Amino acid sequence: MSCGVGPGGKSETIGQRLYGWGLSRRDFVVFCAKLMVAAPFGLALTNQARAAEVAREVAKARRLPVIWLHFQDCTGCTETLLRTSEPDLGQLILHLISLDYHETLMAAAGKAAEAALRSSMRENSGKYVLVVEGAIPRKDKGVYMKIGGTPAAEMLEEVAGRAAAVIGLGSCAAWGGIPSADPDPTGAVGVDAIVTGKPIVNIPGCPPNPYTLLGTVLQYARYGTLPDLDVEKRPKFAYDRDIHEHCPRRAHFDAGRFARQFGDAGHRQGWCLYHLGCKGPETHAGCSTRHFNEVVDAWPIGIGAPCIGCTEKTLAFRVPLFQVIPIHDARPPDVYAPIESPQGSWSVPAAALVGGVAGVLVGAGYVASRKFSSVPDDESVPGSGPADGAGPSDAGPETGPESRP
Ligand code: SF4
Repeated sequence: MSCGVGPGGKSETIGQRLYGWGLSRRDFVVFCAKLMVAAPFGLALTNQARAAEVAREVAKARRLPVIWLHFQDCTGCTETLLRTSEPDLGQLILHLISLDYHETLMAAAGKAAEAALRSSMRENSGKYVLVVEGAIPRKDKGVYMKIGGTPAAEMLEEVAGRAAAVIGLGSCAAWGGIPSADPDPTGAVGVDAIVTGKPIVNIPGCPPNPYTLLGTVLQYARYGTLPDLDVEKRPKFAYDRDIHEHCPRRAHFDAGRFARQFGDAGHRQGWCLYHLGCKGPETHAGCSTRHFNEVVDAWPIGIGAPCIGCTEKTLAFRVPLFQVIPIHDARPPDVYAPIESPQGSWSVPAAALVGGVAGVLVGAGYVASRKFSSVPDDESVPGSGPADGAGPSDAGPETGPESRP
């Protein structure tokens, strides 16, 4: 059974397929606009002035054969793809690519499913993209997961061997994710611990943003190239910045307003979640600007839960959810830059005099704010209450809420 091949087969362009299916041009342009938002920089496909131009480029591409393997996963990465709407991405994706094998979506089972896999591998050898969802267990000769009697690692090696490129979708496929959390009973690893000699792209996240996958796959379909990757093999267009840079709670972080407990006054007012264990300052992902499922604020911090760092190999499923982490480079400056450039030139004595006055004012302001913030247990006042003095400048594992008096 082939999930995506219909009349016209794989040789037809995406444009022919979509308009033949009945997708309106407007919906197609809306989809391409979302692709542009997901990949504003770093992707040749979306490096256009207008969404209509991106649509033109996508329409010219041939539908790429894709084989999708599931290993130790919860199917959340597939779910996030199917739950996106306007246009219905679950439908759309079957027309954008030729999804030849996907255990969750295909109607076939057993021998018929295995035959579909073999047939696609044979017909598209060296041309298909392999998407892997889930970690691969290696302990005890891979006995913890077999598909059709074949251990997962063996199956991956075989299918990847004939692929043009391999995508590790989700944190489990990228580096082991939840199945690899201590004590890692099955010896779970990601794709690049097994596959060698093939281009590999990691799209971590629990789940990842579906537009990152589509941007990568469509770029490959149109130009035959993969996006620029960082050291973790993540597409730079989606993982170049950290959550903290664009977090809507960032102003509270800079002002020292932190929720200290779930449900406290700060939490209810939408203050920063750093002291509840938020890993946003060390987590590279676009969640703070690209929310999920077309729903505003549908992402962890948007609903009041700290970021767990699911796109970072060393954070999620390695560091406890609510543990406060040190911040390396996201501290607000002690003194902000002036908002107006000084005009004309200054003599040295004049500059010294102004500097002295400014120093006195800054010092007086600081002392005043310390007095102001020492009102006991007034959570509405930044810096007050039992954790007075805690903040980004004294961040560190030892500064967690549990260590405060
Ligand atoms: S610490 Fe977390 S909640 Fe606070 S501003 Fe940074 S990313 Fe947002």
